[in-house]
Amino acid sequence: MSTSHVIIGDGIAGASAAETIREADPDASVTVLTDEGEALYNRILIKEFAKGKLPEAPISIHEPEWYDERDIDLQLNTHVTDIDPDAHEIQTHEGDTYEYDKLLVATGGTPAQVPVENSDADGIHHFWTFQDARGIREHADEADQGIIVGAGLLGIDLAAVCAAQEIDAKYLMRGNRWWRYALSEEGAEIIHEALEENGVEPVFESGVDHFEVDDDGHVTGAVDPDGNHYEGEWAGVAIGLDFNTEFLNGTGLELDDGVVVDEYMQTNVEDIYAAGDLTQFYDTILDSQAQNGAWGSAKEQGSVAGTNMVADAEEKEFRWVSSYSITHFDFPFLSFGHPTRGDDEAERKYSDSEWRRLAFEDGQLVGGVLIGDLSQQSAFKQLIREERQVADKKELLLEKEVDLEEVKAQTPAPAE
Ligand SMILES: Cc1cc2nc3c(=O)[nH]c(=O)nc-3n(C[C@H](O)[C@H](O)[C@H](O)COP(=O)(O)OP(=O)(O)OC[C@H]3O[C@@H](n4cnc5c(N)ncnc54)[C@H](O)[C@@H]3O)c2cc1C
Repeated sequence: MSTSHVIIGDGIAGASAAETIREADPDASVTVLTDEGEALYNRILIKEFAKGKLPEAPISIHEPEWYDERDIDLQLNTHVTDIDPDAHEIQTHEGDTYEYDKLLVATGGTPAQVPVENSDADGIHHFWTFQDARGIREHADEADQGIIVGAGLLGIDLAAVCAAQEIDAKYLMRGNRWWRYALSEEGAEIIHEALEENGVEPVFESGVDHFEVDDDGHVTGAVDPDGNHYEGEWAGVAIGLDFNTEFLNGTGLELDDGVVVDEYMQTNVEDIYAAGDLTQFYDTILDSQAQNGAWGSAKEQGSVAGTNMVADAEEKEFRWVSSYSITHFDFPFLSFGHPTRGDDEAERKYSDSEWRRLAFEDGQLVGGVLIGDLSQQSAFKQLIREERQVADKKELLLEKEVDLEEVKAQTPAPAE
């Protein structure tokens, strides 16, 4: 009897698991269920589509034939509503039942709405799917003024869409800077200047109290908590993700702002695994639970889950230093590891467009942000992976060119 693998979600985590399972077990039955109407595409690239800089075709990664050729049963437009772990069955919105021996939950997240009046008005966009990007591009083409809400990595993509589509935009931020959890004022200043050069005006200590709409229900502006009014017939909101776990309620699966898994991507319920953005995984580098919203990390988690599902054993462990880059400006930007964690930090500005910040936890480097010069990223990632105690070597780590051998000589790697 062949083993039956069911995967919920055809994002990069789910698709990578399907591919891994098929390669490891040619006889397994593999089913992938997704509530989207299209097979895996490059979610990172949809911003370039929304900007008007890329056509549709290069964004697709797998056509349905890719699944056919590998004897993977892909079901589009199929929303999973329930799981019964005892019966090893799942239910879809159309009442269909799928039986599984091994199940992978790779359902990612859905953008959260700002909890204010009119936040679902026509013309207010959230950004996660290719369909979202199509709507954003279409409306952006016609808009003159825009409003962006959400001072993080996705908010800045929406700001870049405004810049590319020549929308005169106000970027409303709650604090005094962009991505305040990972950047100091000095580092954020570089980003603010780049936004302004691109026609996007940052507005600090602001936010949205409510959106205003016309008689047709289309957004016309936003009012911040101080009563300031900003006009815009186009708005982009990116304040975080709600993880897609509703269908897991009552299953006994441990949930904690996502699905809790160990380093093998296994949940607390037998034969159920999870991978991708929605996991609270055990990070073997930090020796604690962690979360990560990045493409490379989701892909690796899918592959680890797939390997362990086939082996029916704890064969492969997830050990990964993630990175996330932004390419909207004329200088590069990269965040790596867990830049928003830590109990200690170090930073330096090297020029008008070069800056570095490193975050430390319990003496280890755990993440950071590089602006302008990414050349030292592999040295930092190596130090993270090797779990060296480097927090008291800040001067060495802030040198423009890090002497990795010197740092290593002064900080022996912990014994295995
Ligand atoms: C605009 C944008 C830009 C980004 N830029 C970067 C970047 O530059 N670098 C980077 O590293 N990362 C970037 N990311 C993040 C990256 O795309 C994600 O981390 C990654 O795609 C997560 O993959 P995943 O498979 O875990 O989840 P997802 O890609 O969210 O896939 C989950 C899938 O499951 C489906 N699903 C959900 N619930 C159900 C259900 N009940 N039944 C059936 N199907 C369901 C969803 O519709 C979705 O198709 C970006 C994301 C966006 C939106």
